[in-house]
Amino acid sequence: MAPADPEISLPPPVAARLPDIRNQTPADLAQRFQAWGQPHYRIDQLLNWLYSRRAASWEEMKNLPKDLRAQLAGDFSLGSLQLLRKQGSHDTTQKFLWRLHDGALIESVLIPANPALYGERSDRHTLCVSTQVGCAYGCKFCASGLEGWKRNLEPWEIIGQVLAVERWHAETPVAPPEDPGLTPPASPAATPAGAAGREPTRLINNLVIMGMGEPMANYVHLMAALRTLNAPWGGQIGARKITISTSGVVPRIRDLADDPLQFRLAISLHGATDPVRTQIMPINRKYPLAELTAACEHYVAQKGQMITLEYILIAGINDALDQIPHLARLARRLHAKVNVIPYNQVEGLPWERPSETVCEQFAEELRECGITTTLRMEKGHDIDAACGQLRLKTEKELAATAS
Ligand code: SAH
Ligand code: SF4
Repeated sequence: MAPADPEISLPPPVAARLPDIRNQTPADLAQRFQAWGQPHYRIDQLLNWLYSRRAASWEEMKNLPKDLRAQLAGDFSLGSLQLLRKQGSHDTTQKFLWRLHDGALIESVLIPANPALYGERSDRHTLCVSTQVGCAYGCKFCASGLEGWKRNLEPWEIIGQVLAVERWHAETPVAPPEDPGLTPPASPAATPAGAAGREPTRLINNLVIMGMGEPMANYVHLMAALRTLNAPWGGQIGARKITISTSGVVPRIRDLADDPLQFRLAISLHGATDPVRTQIMPINRKYPLAELTAACEHYVAQKGQMITLEYILIAGINDALDQIPHLARLARRLHAKVNVIPYNQVEGLPWERPSETVCEQFAEELRECGITTTLRMEKGHDIDAACGQLRLKTEKELAATAS
């Protein structure tokens, strides 16, 4: 064999991983446990450790016999996401940057429903999760697609974002309020997830699939993850509390319509006529508005659920009022509500958000057409909340330190 070229330094190979335990359905586990001669109630105990106690190691699972733990460890991984960076403070929008086992970076964003007062914790939280590393769809305004697509997330890596944030929350004490005069009575110390005794409470009751990646391009893994996150033995998040956002992958919208679970659908529209939409979203060439609308109509007919049209406003690109009648017609036909979102500027891209007046006028004109409209000033504007931005920034910093 020729000697290795000393000039070329290859990264160390990523060790082959066993399949992750959270990629397994209860039916898969039942088969395995039966083959091992383990009683069925052990599966319930395992599921409880995985999804209620959010165990990060086999050793924590104290009520499982040692030999079963060894069998599990011999056949499955129990992966975890490594928190690389976090932006934002408790009870505001917080962004988490995770490193995966192969070094890939992904983001999740935690959004409290009501910013809590006086140092108490807000009790309702939405988590925005990623489904891919990068994105192949190349929407012109989006940071996630800037460096292309790297890979699909596995189901456990999607589920793991919820578990890791909940675990992090349970282990992190509440920061004291700035004004000591407003200090509430001391709250009991947070119980680390997995500690013996009481069941940890759930933090996340709303999920939006709006992080990095196109969820419908990782449909099989996404649905596997969502079934687990929805299940009473899993994440216990109601299907109607889970919204999948797509740039418009028509065949998968139809698949979702025909799925028995009632997941919600949001469409990243961003243009109400084909020329405007094609200009910023290449997918519109493959699935133009007529096809997208027909697929959405099928979804609405199947589910009897309202869908949401997301419309980010980009100055000079899609913010002209001549879009309004087209957008109103589409929304009316689909019985959809419209979320108008001022564009979040991305470093390195030329696009800008219009003035507040333009955003308000756009939303107001839509309302005047009888369309239910919200103008959502991005909550995380100050912490690069639009998907893909923190990852991009960190990758640039890592590259700079490595060179
Ligand atoms: N790929 C899916 C889901 C992830 S993107 C989709 O496109 O729907 C989630 C949402 O963030 C989409 O509506 C997307 O258009 C929007 N988005 C992307 N970059 C943005 C930015 N810089 N400012 C505001 N919204 C942005
Ligand atoms: Fe991908 Fe969605 Fe970003 Fe488009 S908007 S590049 S589909 S993540």
